[in-house]
Amino acid sequence: MTKVNDIVIIGAGQSGGWAAKTLRDSGFTGSVQLIGDESHLPYERPPLSKQVLLGEFEPGACQLWSSERLEELGIKAELGNHVELVDRRGGQVVCREGKSFRFDQLLLATGSRPRRLICEGGELAGVHYLRTIDDCMAIRASLGPDTRLVVVGGGWIGLEVAAGLRARGAHVTVLETSEHLCGRSLSPSLSKYFLEQHLRRGVDVRLGARLKRFVGKGRIQGVELDDGSMLDATVVLVGIGAIPNDELARSCGLEVGNGIVVDEHCRTSDPRIFACGDVSDQPLGEGRVRLESWKNAQDQGVAAAKAMLGIDSLARELPWFWSDQFDINFQLVGIVPPTAQQYRKANASENGFIDFFVQEGRLVAAAAINSPRELREAKRAIQKALPFCVDGLVLV
Ligand SMILES: Cc1cc2nc3c(=O)[nH]c(=O)nc-3n(C[C@H](O)[C@H](O)[C@H](O)COP(=O)(O)OP(=O)(O)OC[C@H]3O[C@@H](n4cnc5c(N)ncnc54)[C@H](O)[C@@H]3O)c2cc1C
Repeated sequence: MTKVNDIVIIGAGQSGGWAAKTLRDSGFTGSVQLIGDESHLPYERPPLSKQVLLGEFEPGACQLWSSERLEELGIKAELGNHVELVDRRGGQVVCREGKSFRFDQLLLATGSRPRRLICEGGELAGVHYLRTIDDCMAIRASLGPDTRLVVVGGGWIGLEVAAGLRARGAHVTVLETSEHLCGRSLSPSLSKYFLEQHLRRGVDVRLGARLKRFVGKGRIQGVELDDGSMLDATVVLVGIGAIPNDELARSCGLEVGNGIVVDEHCRTSDPRIFACGDVSDQPLGEGRVRLESWKNAQDQGVAAAKAMLGIDSLARELPWFWSDQFDINFQLVGIVPPTAQQYRKANASENGFIDFFVQEGRLVAAAAINSPRELREAKRAIQKALPFCVDGLVLV
């Protein structure tokens, strides 16, 4: 391998941050340039829809490492800079703000961004998206004692925000166009479970709802639906999914599918360029996936850094995701194939249960409600890939 002196990482988020640290932990002594367009050092986003939004944590609690620690590690963080060009032949990246950086190897860790809703009134103050610390603090600032929140989109971020604010007394409505909450990641029975939990705690969940427009004079006042009904609103959160920030990869001619196409070592179609985190389209089992999860961002950041140094990294962990809503801790391990059979085991002592997803006699995924210990055991069973016994379990 030709000697690598300069590594540039585009995207100073969770995955890029972990990659930078891993380069140093693995003994890389060349320059590590971490470029990010936010003004914050690398941080974790899950608390933004939970503790930070509710004022239980301040944003600093999400930060991965202090500026002193990054300095000690010799990681140069170039914040507030948006890379707008990757020159593969010349081996340099150029920022909109004017700076450019040369690289021997490049890592794209540009994450994803909220899908925008094109809708009348979408520009009104009080209509929010949630991705960054700045988004979170803007929502926090708009909350008050008489908050009437309308969440557009019944996905994970929307439901977490709905649960958190409802638990603090806000009037909350969730609008979902399909007939299922979190329909892309949950089976119908699990989706129904979350629906019941929200309804029971007073969230007004409307499935099959069609938004017509946002109404207000400068600031949001209401949300009109296609059926003519009008909901009062002081705050709106739009959470209708995320799209990968893969434009740089596209424009420099890398292979792109649902995100930047990488192999199991995070290598793109250019041997000098790697990609990790939400933006990557990676192989998993027989197919390919783009995972938007905390665990994947960290695992792939570490794996990408090691691959850049030519270190054989350990076998990848199973995909894992969690969500906290009200007093419910949900965890999902593995990928649920649409044809898997679902079996349930109650866990009476903790008011929870675990669902096992079985394909061709083997456990391939598990979803646990308030049952973290059982989930850990299921994870081991998935990894062992032994025949799975369903005796005593209830087919859902
Ligand atoms: C509100 C919220 C709650 C979440 N909760 C959970 C949860 O409970 N459980 C879970 O498993 N996952 C959760 N996630 C998902 C998890 O946080 C993400 O999967 C993870 O942050 C992805 O990390 P990343 O480094 O790939 O991307 P990011 O953390 O988004 O980092 C990418 C960075 O690159 C920057 N960037 C993009 N393009 C450029 C450019 N051209 N130049 C410079 N910089 C650029 C972006 O601005 C960003 O700062 C949540 C996400 C959000 C938003």
